[in-house]
Amino acid sequence: MKEYDLVIGLEIHAEIDTKTKAFCFCKNEFGALPNTQVCPICLGLPGTLPILNKKAVEKCIIAGLVFGCDINEETIFERKNYFYPDLSKSYQISQFQKPICKNGGIKLKNGKFVRFNRIHLEEDAGKLIHKDDCDETLIDFNRGGVPLIEMVTEPDLSNSNEVIEFLTNLRRILLYSGVSKCIMQEGGLRFDINLSVKEKNTDNLGVRVEMKNLNSFKAVKKAIEYETNRQIKEIESGNQIIQETRAWNDEDEITYGIREKENVNDYRYFPDPDIVPIKISKHDIESIKKNIPETYFDRIIRYKRLGLSDYEIDTLTDEKFIADYFDEVLKYSSNYKEIANWMMTEILRITKEMPNTDIAKLISPESLAYIIDLIITKQLTRNNAKILFEQIINTGKEVKNLIKELDLIGDVNKKDIVDLMGHLINENPNIVKSYKDNPEDIINYCIGRIVKSTNGKAKIEYIMPLIKEILKSKIN
Ligand code: ADP
Ligand code: MG
Ligand code: ZN
Repeated sequence: MKEYDLVIGLEIHAEIDTKTKAFCFCKNEFGALPNTQVCPICLGLPGTLPILNKKAVEKCIIAGLVFGCDINEETIFERKNYFYPDLSKSYQISQFQKPICKNGGIKLKNGKFVRFNRIHLEEDAGKLIHKDDCDETLIDFNRGGVPLIEMVTEPDLSNSNEVIEFLTNLRRILLYSGVSKCIMQEGGLRFDINLSVKEKNTDNLGVRVEMKNLNSFKAVKKAIEYETNRQIKEIESGNQIIQETRAWNDEDEITYGIREKENVNDYRYFPDPDIVPIKISKHDIESIKKNIPETYFDRIIRYKRLGLSDYEIDTLTDEKFIADYFDEVLKYSSNYKEIANWMMTEILRITKEMPNTDIAKLISPESLAYIIDLIITKQLTRNNAKILFEQIINTGKEVKNLIKELDLIGDVNKKDIVDLMGHLINENPNIVKSYKDNPEDIINYCIGRIVKSTNGKAKIEYIMPLIKEILKSKIN
């Protein structure tokens, strides 16, 4: 068998995080009852005119700036004409000749720079709902007219690892810049993969196949593997690859052809006569730049300076709300390593167990900082800290009240241990007898009992030598 190279280019759609839709005043919000967020404009009823959402344009410019694109001084909107039931106007307002952004890209760890061809603004279509229990297909137009950015890369990617690294970075960059919430499960971030194979070390690109609308990294990886093997098999058996659009079946993990690839000419793009060309001045760009929140890369640099490891940074920054919570806790405690530990274990666990809950409402950053400082100053054992943490989450009670209520803080002194051991031995004189034959078991037993009866306040390092001393004195 010959050896082959993979060539991959991506088209990425991200829903822009705005209050209202791209060309009307309907809410841009996921999850409402079907067809409750629609109006004559986004439904495309005759006689209506689109009103461009300035915020959507600004966020598209922000996307361009954070990916190092050039921003066109003039941009126009065009109609992309096609019929499909989820597109009530029978055309989508999109951009073709003069997108808002061109060029730019993302650098990978291996040094490769993956180039963007363009980033443009367009509107989303509605959603078809195929009912299992009947033959009907329903249409929800709430999503119709929601602003999207489409980002198109050059065919610079060569394997699925590069693609995943690229998309991971892309998602985080968009998330931190506030352009998109990038919620893949809600379709807020979707990927089309264009893939072709060519004989190793040749320059001519092969025929590409486009796989549409993947919305998880796992699906992206599997689809690339499947499609690569399929294309190589076809070529090896002497067949031609047809330029087509294929869909990904998540259950069977295969791609299947849905239609032959349409040609750009088929869309009959033309400037939308209802929307005037938009001028973007240097001054506009400067004032937009000032409003970009701390970027993903700046956040990484700040965490590196703080002393976090690459692994900690990678885990903490994957979701912005986690990193933001971490920053809040940092305001109340300087023990950043211990805070990072709690974030990576307890906080991440809680967010998995209770997705969609605001962690700050479960445990305030100030309370977590307070617990962490008590551990560091050795006033609270780690075990008791965990108990306290769980109780705050479960009962919603205030941290200081809970500490009192559960009696979790305070010193255990030598006299306490002597008294407690006295009780134990009175209760069960066998302890002393068995100690000779089985010292380790007995010591562990006593430690267990004392830790329990002091509410976990007794620290093992402290009580172990005392217990040994007391037991020894009894057998002599
Ligand atoms: P369309 O909108 O019709 O899909 P574009 O010209 O916008 O066409 O290109 C779509 C994507 O296909 C781009 O991401 C580009 O990098 C990619 N691409 C182009 N040629 C190839 C090829 N031979 N193999 C893989 N990807 C390709
Ligand atoms: Mg395409
Ligand atoms: Zn509307």
